[in-house]
Amino acid sequence: MPLIVQKFGGTSVGTLDRIRGAALRALATQRAGNDVVVIVSAMSGETNRLLKLAHDVVAMPDARELDALAATGEQVSAALMALAIQAAGGRARSFLGHQLKILTDSAFTKARIKAIDASRVTDTVKDGTIVVVAGFQGVDEDGNITTLGRGGSDTSAVAVAAAIGADACEIFTDVDGVYTADPNVCPSARKIERISYEEMLELASLGAKVLQIRSVEVAMKYGVPVHVRSSFSEASGTWVVGEDASFESVVVTGVASDKGEARVMLVGVDDRPGMVAEIFGALADENIGVDMIIQNASVDPGGAEGPAAARGAKTDVTFTVTKTDLPRAKVVMDRIAASVGASGLRYDESVAKVSVVGLGMRSHAGVAARMFRLLAGAGINIQAISTSEIKVSCLVAADRAEDAVRTLHDGFGLGAPARP
Ligand code: ADP
Ligand code: ASP
Ligand code: MG
Repeated sequence: MPLIVQKFGGTSVGTLDRIRGAALRALATQRAGNDVVVIVSAMSGETNRLLKLAHDVVAMPDARELDALAATGEQVSAALMALAIQAAGGRARSFLGHQLKILTDSAFTKARIKAIDASRVTDTVKDGTIVVVAGFQGVDEDGNITTLGRGGSDTSAVAVAAAIGADACEIFTDVDGVYTADPNVCPSARKIERISYEEMLELASLGAKVLQIRSVEVAMKYGVPVHVRSSFSEASGTWVVGEDASFESVVVTGVASDKGEARVMLVGVDDRPGMVAEIFGALADENIGVDMIIQNASVDPGGAEGPAAARGAKTDVTFTVTKTDLPRAKVVMDRIAASVGASGLRYDESVAKVSVVGLGMRSHAGVAARMFRLLAGAGINIQAISTSEIKVSCLVAADRAEDAVRTLHDGFGLGAPARP
């Protein structure tokens, strides 16, 4: 019998009526001849509420206790979903992460799944029971409750689908699929029918939170077909699948933006061998990831013979880190500023990274140039740039982010064709 995993996000289980609606959908899928496993998120707003409680008790909560607390959101919705299925005449049993043995590492608040005991799920669905799994949570080797990072129920769903060899993993959310840009920001955004894992991975990592990045990594690794669709309609959504030749004909597939980074600038550092190694080595030692990096051309006073550094040549180094890591990055910068000769440190949290993504960039030149022209045309200043094989990202002022998304989206011709 085909095996379908259905994940319902926060909005899709946000009220008892919506939980009842999701339960009916799972039952309809079962009656259509499938075995069904349901993964639930916490009711919308609940995870934020729980995390705020912890932060109201203490400014820097212990990560283990934070996970023990945050995981309760999904415990509530899993039990309610099982009850709703039973109330509608079906059979259902809920399971928490530790009951299913969703084994993770011990990186509290951002744990990675290491293994899932699939037999518990496959044995339970055999007699027509719908298995309801609390998303977002797992258990480590020592029995501690862990969580998988914000948006982690997507990853629970795809990982369970991979472990039990499901035929598809449906992600029910509050939009009809993956769009060419966030439909809540860009009114002309269009639904994408099919997107490759690779493009979805880039879009997710560049700010399109419709799927958690980790979920796309797992889907790609195990070849799980993912169907992102609306829990409020029957319409087909977006299939996230393996790449085929047709994908490369589209140069730009989507636009994303991310306000989660901050810009750090070291002014007037010594332009000598080993300077950037010292800066980024110190950040790496503290486990602080760096995204965009720019080193300006050196200002060389000239004159004396010998290497530029000996003449006192200076340069500026700019980079971005996540806002969450910024406080720790500041501590590192304060520590090393003197030894790299920096005359100043500047920080800016009012920035956003806007990116265009498309597999076709591999074979089409000129995307970056067109992006810069479009932003210039809208009077949007570019503060930093980074590129990879299938994406170009620009750092802009945060208050121009939405403008930049719409400008790029329509400028690259992604908008819905105008109605006659
Ligand atoms: P859920 O609670 O169901 O997991 P999320 O809020 O995590 O839902 O993700 C859905 C949201 O993702 C949408 O409401 C939309 O604002 C946002 N989003 C960002 N980029 C995109 C995109 N390219 N396509 C669709 N949705 C997007
Ligand atoms: N409830 C968790 C969160 O809000 C996990 C999820 O919804 O995917 O991040
Ligand atoms: Mg989500």
